[in-house]
Amino acid sequence: MSLANGRNILAIPGPSVIPDRVLNAMHTAAPNIYVGSLLDTTDSLVPDLKKIAKTDGYVAMYIGNGHAAWEASLANVLALGDNILVLATGRFGHSWAEMAKQRGLEVELVDFGHRSVVQGETVERILNEDKKKTIKAVLVVQVDTATSAKTDILSIRELINKCNHPALLMVDSIACLGCDEMHMDQWGVDVIVAGCQKGLMVPPGMSFVFFNEKAMERRRSLKLVSSYWDWIPRAQPSHFYEYFCGTAPTHHLLGLREALTMIIHEEGLDLVWKRHKILANSIWSALDRWSSEGSLELNIKEPKDRSHAVTAVRIDPLFGTKLRNWLTENTGVTLGIGIGMADPNDPAWHGFFRIGHMGHLNAHMVLGTLGAIDAGLKSLKIPHGDGALEAASLICADS
Ligand SMILES: *Cc1c(COP(=O)(O)O)cnc(C)c1O
Repeated sequence: MSLANGRNILAIPGPSVIPDRVLNAMHTAAPNIYVGSLLDTTDSLVPDLKKIAKTDGYVAMYIGNGHAAWEASLANVLALGDNILVLATGRFGHSWAEMAKQRGLEVELVDFGHRSVVQGETVERILNEDKKKTIKAVLVVQVDTATSAKTDILSIRELINKCNHPALLMVDSIACLGCDEMHMDQWGVDVIVAGCQKGLMVPPGMSFVFFNEKAMERRRSLKLVSSYWDWIPRAQPSHFYEYFCGTAPTHHLLGLREALTMIIHEEGLDLVWKRHKILANSIWSALDRWSSEGSLELNIKEPKDRSHAVTAVRIDPLFGTKLRNWLTENTGVTLGIGIGMADPNDPAWHGFFRIGHMGHLNAHMVLGTLGAIDAGLKSLKIPHGDGALEAASLICADS
């Protein structure tokens, strides 16, 4: 017998839990793509997406996952042979850099390791050494989903300004848009990439590139941009089909409309951020208790450096995979695997898991997930400190 029967929870860092309202909005006959409500719905997404990134700039939508937004962002502002600086705080920074190399860019990658946010001094030194200002863009991942490290994006902008450097600031917010704070214009971010399947609660399949006037000027100065990736017609379409350079992702648009209504017009973005913060704190307080004895540890030590969307956990490699499997089989909770922390063939690979806590998530889902983990620790006799559930529930009670 299994106690997993019932509604499962996918507690991984994307795709995230999809609200029934979003699923229901998508459950409809194929809409007319020539005239009518789908066109109005699509137009209405644009201002709401900009509100989520807190920008008055532009947004281009793509049919694709986060990797598509990565490609799109590079394609619109960087030309063959351009120099860029990539600041990596986990696997995702490396992947964006690899994609840039394959596009023929000259990439300098600074690796801050698996347990750290970006360290300003290194960035400042590199930018100051670039006397001829050849670095065209600084790429940074706001929340690296592999490590759950959250870099302070405003501090990077301040460094770039301090060095009087013209490089564009390009930020990957795929993991955390709608979960951790983002103030694109206020923080001086030139380009943001995001996806729909994390904080935005829609099944994977759409991604977004936000950009400002400075990035638009850079785009206009490029000689060659493939028509599919070109963000100009997507951001300023004169015909509906230009939004997506072809057929629109009809049902995703309906799902996204519902999700943005929930975030922007019902709960309100500030309260969505606050909910994520409290739920993240609840999870961390449980982990603090569990790790007070035995084999677990939060990957990122400083709470201010942790994302409110995902938490990476270290555990004795004897237990990580066992615990995840036990939870799926016995409780209906699926936790995220560790990625990029160790080679999959290395036994150390089993010493990590991640809890996704992004998007459509409330206290009972978080407390239920923590309760299931607690049961797993006990069933598998994994050494751990006690009082975790009490600590987590007190955070929710005090909010
Ligand atoms: C999920 C994620 C990606 C990749 O998105 P895909 O949809 O899997 O292509 C890139 N960067 C970050 C920070 C992510 O969390």
